[in-house]
Amino acid sequence: MKLKHPSNLETPLSGWGRYPVVKSYLQRPEKVSSFRKILEECGKSPVIARGLGRSYGDAALNAKGYTVLTQRLNRILAFDKKTGILRCEAGVTMKEILATFVPRGWFPAVTPGTKFVTVGGAVAFDVHGKNHHRDGSFSRHLRSLELILASGETVQCSRQENRELFWATVGGMGLTGIITEAEFALHPIQTAYIKSHHIKAKNLDEAFALFDEYEPQYQYSVAWIDCLASGKSLGRSILMFGNHAAREDIPLQQQPEPLHLKPKPNLKVPFDLPAGLLNRYTMSIFNTLYYGKMRSKEVKSVIDYDSFFYPLDFIQNWNRLYGKQGFVQYQWVLPTEVSREALYRMLQLCSQTGWGSFLAVLKRLGSQEGWLSFPMAGYTLALDMPIRKGLWEFLRKLDKLVIEYGGRVYLAKDARLSAEAFRSMYPNFPQWLSVKERVDPHNRFSSALSQRLGVER
Ligand SMILES: Cc1cc2nc3c(=O)[nH]c(=O)nc-3n(C[C@H](O)[C@H](O)[C@H](O)COP(=O)(O)OP(=O)(O)OC[C@H]3O[C@@H](n4cnc5c(N)ncnc54)[C@H](O)[C@@H]3O)c2cc1C
Repeated sequence: MKLKHPSNLETPLSGWGRYPVVKSYLQRPEKVSSFRKILEECGKSPVIARGLGRSYGDAALNAKGYTVLTQRLNRILAFDKKTGILRCEAGVTMKEILATFVPRGWFPAVTPGTKFVTVGGAVAFDVHGKNHHRDGSFSRHLRSLELILASGETVQCSRQENRELFWATVGGMGLTGIITEAEFALHPIQTAYIKSHHIKAKNLDEAFALFDEYEPQYQYSVAWIDCLASGKSLGRSILMFGNHAAREDIPLQQQPEPLHLKPKPNLKVPFDLPAGLLNRYTMSIFNTLYYGKMRSKEVKSVIDYDSFFYPLDFIQNWNRLYGKQGFVQYQWVLPTEVSREALYRMLQLCSQTGWGSFLAVLKRLGSQEGWLSFPMAGYTLALDMPIRKGLWEFLRKLDKLVIEYGGRVYLAKDARLSAEAFRSMYPNFPQWLSVKERVDPHNRFSSALSQRLGVER
């Protein structure tokens, strides 16, 4: 395969937040051997892999060279019905895994809040789901990886083989090489439904108490939080818990085919909304209505897995709601011991300044192994904020608090953290860097994010 002339291929690209937009030379190889060819033929230009571009910021962007799309690496290679171990190519998506394996009684051990991610993207950010407090992140269920290094060599790695490379690649943001295959565990399920339990909390203290009380009973937990509420209502939330439903839990009419769901129609945001539409007032109204919509203190129901895990996926292009200038998601995690105090301070800052979000998600995370993986035992909060004047300054204030309390910001959602703040938040970075320098001494794998964070020497 000969690389096409780059000037014909330069394409503007962004992440899910639509900020920043950079031009890159795109390649979409059809098979694994072509990935090696690209590395050979693109000379010294840096390369970054890109899955479905669902990271929000600049992790899968590369203004200085080539962006290599992995979507044609989409073959399922092997599945062991006894153990639930799946081996597939790295461009296989969560959507494809669900469509193939839910009807056979298997579910991903860890899934993020969208099914539009590839296996490569899930490994490269070591993604977590609503069950992190119990089941850890994607890497806990990952058996092995195959990747192409900067030298063009293909290597296998796992907890036993090339151990350091494995831990540098998990959460390594595509900077150690191109992941071509992964082997990981799925979990058995009896139905495609979730027994869900929604509970209202009148403020942050009650939300924490409810997490403590109910989490031991549930595999999945998450809360929507009204980050603009203030005073006695600061941190009022709706907590959502869930377990996979057994056959006898689901309605009688679904019992003959418990693993099959009828397709649901999707909505679409057809154009960019005007920039100022999402502001303190509209968000405050939305939050009050959303909180008030649930009339009783708690509601128990049985819902399909799509509605429980991926409610946003029903609205195509929902990122256009934030207008042309885009948005960032600011997600941070704080150690358990300081979570309550720090969240109070940070929510107070949001409510005083009006920098809130109508999509604000609170989760408890468990402990974590990966070197650059985001999770740590504690609470995480994610806020979507439209890009407008004053945002960077506000987020720098939040960065300071996150660092003061020993927490960190999630790089899968980030587009603006400074190199200095990154180093304070990720203490294992030097360990990671020593592997990066060994396997990629000339920084063949590089992204707008790695350049911004000063990862390259
Ligand atoms: C609505 C929504 C909800 C989300 N919810 C969660 C959540 O609950 N938990 C969570 O952890 N994350 C969540 N995310 C973030 C998302 O899971 C990650 O950003 C994920 O990495 C996106 O996968 P992707 O295939 O789109 O990768 P991309 O965005 O294309 O790339 C992400 C990174 O992976 C690297 N990469 C991709 N493929 C390969 C490969 N084959 N080899 C090497 N590197 C590769 C890229 O270089 C880049 O650094 C959410 C995102 C959205 C939009």
